[in-house]
Amino acid sequence: MDSHYDVVIVGAGLQGHATARVFLQMAPDLNVVILDSSETIGGVWAKEKLYPGLATNNLRGTFEYTDFPMDDSFGVKEAEHLPGESIYEYFCRYAEKHVLTRRIQFSTKVTVAEKLQEGWKLELESIRGNGHTTVDGKEIIPLPAQRTITCAKLVIATGLTSVQQPINIKGSENFQAPIVNFGDYPREAEKIYEDEAIKNVTVIGGGKAAYDIVYLMAAHGKQVTWIIRASGHGPTYMAPAYIYVGPFRCWLEKLAATRIFTFFSPCIWGDADGFGYVRNLLHGTKWGRWIVDIFWWKLGSDLIDQTHIAKHPETKKLMPDQPPFWYGVSLAILNYPTDIYEFVRGGQVKVLRKDVKCLESPKTIRFEDGGSVESDALVCSMGWKFEPTIDFRPKEIHADLGIPSADFSHAQKELWDRLDARADLETFERFPKLATGPKVDHDSLMVQQNLPNSALADKTALRKEVSPWRLWRGIAPPSLPTRDIVFLGMFSLFQGAVRSEISSIWAYAYFYGKLKGPFTSVSKPSVALNLDQRVPAEEQLQAMQKEKGEVNGIMYDTALFNRFGKWRTPYGFGSRHPDVVFEGIAYFDLLLQDLGLNSWRKGWGWMGEIFGGSYDQADYRGLVEEWRRSQKKV
Ligand SMILES: Cc1cc2nc3c(=O)[nH]c(=O)nc-3n(C[C@H](O)[C@H](O)[C@H](O)COP(=O)(O)OP(=O)(O)OC[C@H]3O[C@@H](n4cnc5c(N)ncnc54)[C@H](O)[C@@H]3O)c2cc1C
Repeated sequence: MDSHYDVVIVGAGLQGHATARVFLQMAPDLNVVILDSSETIGGVWAKEKLYPGLATNNLRGTFEYTDFPMDDSFGVKEAEHLPGESIYEYFCRYAEKHVLTRRIQFSTKVTVAEKLQEGWKLELESIRGNGHTTVDGKEIIPLPAQRTITCAKLVIATGLTSVQQPINIKGSENFQAPIVNFGDYPREAEKIYEDEAIKNVTVIGGGKAAYDIVYLMAAHGKQVTWIIRASGHGPTYMAPAYIYVGPFRCWLEKLAATRIFTFFSPCIWGDADGFGYVRNLLHGTKWGRWIVDIFWWKLGSDLIDQTHIAKHPETKKLMPDQPPFWYGVSLAILNYPTDIYEFVRGGQVKVLRKDVKCLESPKTIRFEDGGSVESDALVCSMGWKFEPTIDFRPKEIHADLGIPSADFSHAQKELWDRLDARADLETFERFPKLATGPKVDHDSLMVQQNLPNSALADKTALRKEVSPWRLWRGIAPPSLPTRDIVFLGMFSLFQGAVRSEISSIWAYAYFYGKLKGPFTSVSKPSVALNLDQRVPAEEQLQAMQKEKGEVNGIMYDTALFNRFGKWRTPYGFGSRHPDVVFEGIAYFDLLLQDLGLNSWRKGWGWMGEIFGGSYDQADYRGLVEEWRRSQKKV
């Protein structure tokens, strides 16, 4: 059996499948393997990770690959949300269609990735026996989990929700009722709602996961206490899939993919869409910003009106703290069979905006203000660790790879501090609204977003300063000179399936030297972007200090891309990784232009872009073929 591969893809989720399909379509003879620590296909949607009631925010049609539309045979009708089981089935059928299943090695965790002169050496850990290779009981061509393999190119598609934050509350050891973390919820949920001795359940968290837990428990007749941290960033926005903006009924997801609406968001790479002058007017002038503020105020108030939460004193506690402008993809959809707020209005769900202090024996949850509640079970949504799930070695290259790390040298840190400071200046100059946005204590959010730091049992995590993801175009290492690794999917946006495909084509072109400049710089004035002139961060700093060298364009472009995110979505994930909603279509424009492909895809030039409605899967269908044809012409 091979121990050297042309390409290793880590992660068999939405992204890993897209990458395998695209790479094999480009080069059918590539020796590609996909490794995944899960037991089944689908990543987030793997069979063992589904919990009762899990469904997509998306309605049918927007959570699917461009080459494999979902039809009625998946048990979902048009304009319905997709249950987790249907998505799992979708991935199984997709993998079969593209003959990917036999390439996936399940229950295989990549623990270490070590940089070689050429390519990577990976250490694997078989989680169950000798490389578990079955899907739904069917045996797949066995690929024994070797301890070590090597590869020429490495694709990291491990997602952003693979490792949960542990529950780190003082006094947990004294609490005598079940405590369940969200990552274990698929296994534990049923035990809680089926247990008649459990009369009341406490849920901690203010995001979509907490909403799902509260709904399921209340729907099973439990009395629910719902704790949302008072000192944190409050509950997220929840919206119906369709909203009225003034007299217009809009599919919310599609609003964000409609070119003309995307102008209302500042976007540091926005010029790539060819309408930079419109954005300059809207965000660079006082009158423009006034119009932008009205747009977002209207959107926010329509969202609140249509959920009716402002009309009852109890549901009012679920009002988000800030306009939706600042939230990124944290904005989620009410995809429940009945009205979740009815449980709140009726008193079965009690919302408390309080800071937890500690847990006490036997079943007490104590608050900072001295109050407490008793609970038969505690379910916590503590969020996910955003750091890589793999130990990349040597640690000296972490900064050059652009991965979150606490292991930067002094020089690496200094260089990024300088670039970040310059990027902040440019961001605020171009988009003054971002300079005055809400300030969030990102450092404490890095540890555990639903608990104040004072309630943490283990405070060592507080001392660890972890850098954010810093990838050029959200994909490639900013200062690693070789082209043998990409990170795909370290990115939050609504059109995840389309992004997974376009970014895979981009990654293929990047690996094999087919991305051709000049690239569009996101900076103004633009900096020169030369992928072959990337040098390690420490060398770059020395050059800047000794020879008064110019800042490396790729690194500055990366800094700008990331710092923009930090200020754009302080109530989302922008300080850790790109978190884009209204900026997604312009991001696709940027990648398509790097590939030399047409980014205005509606036809009829600017008229089509303005009046042609929202972008969807059909607009991006057939891109691999299109790119291959464009390569033959060169
Ligand atoms: C509960 C939940 C609901 C969501 N709902 C929506 C939604 O409605 N709409 C939407 O657009 N997005 C949603 N998302 C976001 C979701 O992350 C994306 O939809 C998408 O599934 C991400 O795909 P991915 O392939 O990037 O990552 P994942 O699906 O997370 O796949 C990553 C895979 O990598 C594997 N892996 C990780 N580390 C290692 C390692 N070291 N070695 C081997 N394997 C490893 C994991 O086991 C996993 O299978 C949701 C996320 C969650 C958690």
